[in-house]
Amino acid sequence: MRKFTKEEQEYVIHICNKSKSITQASKILKIDRLTLKKYAKKFGCFKNGRKNYISVLENRILERKCPRCNKKLTYTDKSGYNIAVKKKDVCRKCGVFLSKKIRKSDLSILLEETPLTYYWIGFLLADGNFGKTNTVKCTLSSIDKDHLIKLKNFLKIKSVNFEKNEKYCTIKAMDGINAPLICKKFKIHNRKTYNPPKLSFIKDKDLKTALIAGFIDGDGCIQYKGKRFTLSVKCHSSWLNILSDFAKFINPTTNAKINNSGYAIFQVLNVPSLKKLKQDVIRLQLPVLKRKWDKINLNYVMHEEAHERNFKTFIKLFNKFKNFDHFKERFNKIVYGK
Ligand SMILES: [Zn+2]
Repeated sequence: MRKFTKEEQEYVIHICNKSKSITQASKILKIDRLTLKKYAKKFGCFKNGRKNYISVLENRILERKCPRCNKKLTYTDKSGYNIAVKKKDVCRKCGVFLSKKIRKSDLSILLEETPLTYYWIGFLLADGNFGKTNTVKCTLSSIDKDHLIKLKNFLKIKSVNFEKNEKYCTIKAMDGINAPLICKKFKIHNRKTYNPPKLSFIKDKDLKTALIAGFIDGDGCIQYKGKRFTLSVKCHSSWLNILSDFAKFINPTTNAKINNSGYAIFQVLNVPSLKKLKQDVIRLQLPVLKRKWDKINLNYVMHEEAHERNFKTFIKLFNKFKNFDHFKERFNKIVYGK
């Protein structure tokens, strides 16, 4: 190949850019197609093959973003672009990263729209950690080892690691593709304590119930107070709005506040609301922590509830029995069991 002068080079580029095809350009330049192709490639007029050449010339550059790092990726031919979209191709840098088998687990289950998934998301929001390196980690006290094993099985992670003193146990999963998508969906920040997630997109009541139940298992506390039971949830003050939302969802008259120690906190004392929450948890078959939820006794009847129930029985029987003694007998049998 003879050497082109600078002017000749520019002329070749000019003609290539103006022409619709390499054949057309070769006719104008009076150079055979293959030679021109070589030059055009050398001068950066086109990349690999005719198709690219034409789309570059026609300035039809297609764009998409790397699903992992959001880097802008450009395509000069349609079929390559379509394949990339279909395969969810990542950029080269991410490709190298992923090929080093960083994707050890498959966390795609955490993107499903099921109560079970939302339960574990709620739990991980409270007790888990979403790291910068596409990891999801959860460390629990060994008392709750069984619960961690449930999570391990749900995420199909191979093993649970115990600390030397066996006081704590940990599971860790890495997924270069799905972990960033989970964080994106729930707006989870890697320093989530100070940057709470955004959950307002959750409109489905069952999914929200499940997420809250998971959060309670992570950061909540169910206690007896006298004969009654209460639920309290406490976390960093930056979560105040989220806690308010959770509180109102459980009982519309409950609100979250900042306590004297500077934590965001809410407390639900309303027995029917807590019973309803537990009934929903049972209905949705959520794998909740037994030691916490057992404290909500579904058979417990408050005075107010009992009064209301007795009053209804009273009215019903009063309308039915005209004889007062018959009425008294039935009423005592139903209400007091004698
Ligand atoms: Zn990338």
